[in-house]
Amino acid sequence: MSFQEVCKALEELYPEAAAIHDGNNADYIPELASVNSDLFGIAVCSCNGEIWHIGDTDIPYTFQSTIKPLLYNVAINLVGEGEVHKHIGCEPSGQRFNAFVLDEDGNPHNPLINAGAIMSSAIIRSEVPTQVDSFKAVKTFAERCAGLVSPVQFDNSVFLSELNTASRNFALSYFMRERSDFLKTVSIERTLELYFSACALTINCKGMATVAATYASGGTCPVTRDQVIQPVHAKDTMQIMFSCGMYDYSGRFAFEVGIPAKSGVSGALMMSVPGKFGIGIWSPRLDKHGNTVRGLWIAKKLVERFPQLHLFGN
Ligand code: GLU
Repeated sequence: MSFQEVCKALEELYPEAAAIHDGNNADYIPELASVNSDLFGIAVCSCNGEIWHIGDTDIPYTFQSTIKPLLYNVAINLVGEGEVHKHIGCEPSGQRFNAFVLDEDGNPHNPLINAGAIMSSAIIRSEVPTQVDSFKAVKTFAERCAGLVSPVQFDNSVFLSELNTASRNFALSYFMRERSDFLKTVSIERTLELYFSACALTINCKGMATVAATYASGGTCPVTRDQVIQPVHAKDTMQIMFSCGMYDYSGRFAFEVGIPAKSGVSGALMMSVPGKFGIGIWSPRLDKHGNTVRGLWIAKKLVERFPQLHLFGN
């Protein structure tokens, strides 16, 4: 299975997927509800830095939850993986992504649910002295992972709307603070500002494919050859994406598709096939779990065609 064969298969699958109109945009903020639901892009970036794309791959969209693995890696780069995992587990939670549930140590189950990503943000916030610099640390990290293939920008309207509908994430933060001495030392307001500003960063499919390929390449961006993440941390992040990246569909996705992946409520999906390539898909209509309908369909069809893409398919 070559890069060209995968791209050819995606080219064939694209019009079929584009005919699917199931699902709805996220509607908890108007900025996501009003995005044109028919927009649809797919990009692939190989571990050699070759990029192929089809559809609406130049249009920026917000990272939303696809920023969570990156927040985790920024935190690791700052304080080390051991320290991060004193505050965040690596188990699937078996609950909704924003559920009020902690593991037996009183920590969020993993970095890819809201509680875990808020904890990563708190670690970053406590290490980087100012609000501006902590935001820049995340943005610069995302740019380096994306290899400047796509601009990484900031959608202020999404950020402000998120802050205005943040009750649950505030509640989740205070819920965690009850059992975390560390969280008692940081400002919940500043932490959530960082978390929401990170979710409101924008990228396009080509950039997201490159981010996914950076993980697939052991943490080195295949386009710039910049080592952004240590290989062991890229491996560990992909493992958590594999078990926890697709909301309440994570176990089923690992079973059926078997590719480390992370989705977000903007309709974003990134998938990292270790040693081969990264895929970035964007289509705003979501299923009941919060995963992009067309993106999920593409992932399943691709693995039907190339069973060896499944981590255990060989
Ligand atoms: N900004 C969103 C929240 O924390 C992220 C949602 C998502 O993509 O899962 O509610």
